Amino acid sequence: MRVLVIGGGIAGTATALGLHKAGVDVTVFEAHPDTAEDIGAFLTLASNGMRALAQLDATHAVTAVGFPLTSLRLLDGQGTEVAHAPLGEADDPALRYRCLRRGELNAALQGEAVRRGIGLRHGARLVSVTDGRYDVTARFADGSTATGDLLVGADGLNSTVRGLLMPEVRPGYAGQRVYYGYTGTAPGPGPVGAITMVRGGTTAFGYAVSPAGETYWFARAGGDPLPAGALAAPPAVLRAQLLPLLREDDTPAAALVEASADSLMVTNATELPLGTAWRAGRVLLVGDAAHAASPATGQGASMALEDAVVLAKALRDLPDPRAACAAYERHRRPRTEHNITVSGGLTRGTRTPSRPAPGTAPPAGPDEQLIRQLAWDTPLSAAPPEPR
Ligand SMILES: Cc1cc2nc3c(=O)[nH]c(=O)nc-3n(C[C@H](O)[C@H](O)[C@H](O)COP(=O)(O)OP(=O)(O)OC[C@H]3O[C@@H](n4cnc5c(N)ncnc54)[C@H](O)[C@@H]3O)c2cc1C
Repeated sequence: MRVLVIGGGIAGTATALGLHKAGVDVTVFEAHPDTAEDIGAFLTLASNGMRALAQLDATHAVTAVGFPLTSLRLLDGQGTEVAHAPLGEADDPALRYRCLRRGELNAALQGEAVRRGIGLRHGARLVSVTDGRYDVTARFADGSTATGDLLVGADGLNSTVRGLLMPEVRPGYAGQRVYYGYTGTAPGPGPVGAITMVRGGTTAFGYAVSPAGETYWFARAGGDPLPAGALAAPPAVLRAQLLPLLREDDTPAAALVEASADSLMVTNATELPLGTAWRAGRVLLVGDAAHAASPATGQGASMALEDAVVLAKALRDLPDPRAACAAYERHRRPRTEHNITVSGGLTRGTRTPSRPAPGTAPPAGPDEQLIRQLAWDTPLSAAPPEPR
């Protein structure tokens, strides 16, 4: 079987690693001319995402970049620590949460794909798809084409593949703007290895300090969506929008933002509607193209890595690609839509994050059903696990 993967981001590259491991002939087509795309943003990979990476034998490639997080601190609006507990599967170095820049993660996964001999074409922007009776053909902006048995759309939130299949589906604003940035000059805001969440009055704020002393932070603030021009505003303008909200509280947040000279960005939190179709004929969507959630739960990249493992197992275990895609959807839809719902609830303020009681450790035990679903050597079960 030959599979064309459109998009060389987290979902696409991880899918290629999984399919290659399953013995499938796979090529990745990435629109950007090099790996330097979106070097600014950062994210955290959660223990479930790290578990998926391990099934793809790609732990070492990713732990070569970024830094681990082993505990979660909560501060109240006066800056007082109200809880500090282990984070995820902190005892296992391979499964620890990891904080890294998205560009670093992409480059690490792409480097691993190339090292394994997987085809990866940069500068290949998909413009159209012809889904035929016996095969599917992708056409690119430079006029080139590629033909395969299955086309996987891993081209993100504003997916061209999804737009061609279902032009009526549009990502929607989830109700918050997300600011994020970096500073290397803020005075000691917290311990290395912890992610600190600040419960401010109007704005959710979080930060992590790298072993090199750089603080990575984000802030989620309500308001109307910012128009495209405002998203590209200079850092000084973004700082002026954010600081008055953070100064309502007596926490390290405002000082961190003040100290972030030029390293300050903003985006609108965006999500896809529940029930978005994922497949038609020989075309299937994965990652954000299928189930983009607002970033509040910090699970989008981990969900993309889980997708990769489950799709590879489905294509390995089921000889008919359409049956494999149906099994993939059965397994992935409940869990990814649960994430869209929970994350959207946090973003709209209709749901508060579960928090440990002060001084107690939360039940950080792994999800046994998920472990089985992802375990490479375990066949994909007939019944998908319940979301947890
Ligand atoms: C502010 C913010 C913070 C976040 N924080 C976290 C976090 O802490 N933890 C977490 O797990 N997730 C987080 N996420 C979500 C995470 O970034 C996404 O879920 C993840 O990047 C999805 O990966 P993807 O590969 O599906 O899409 P993308 O990363 O968007 O990759 C899509 C790729 O497809 C390519 N492409 C697009 N169109 C075409 C085309 N026509 N032809 C060829 N290639 C194309 C793009 O160039 C890109 O490389 C955050 C998101 C945001 C916005």
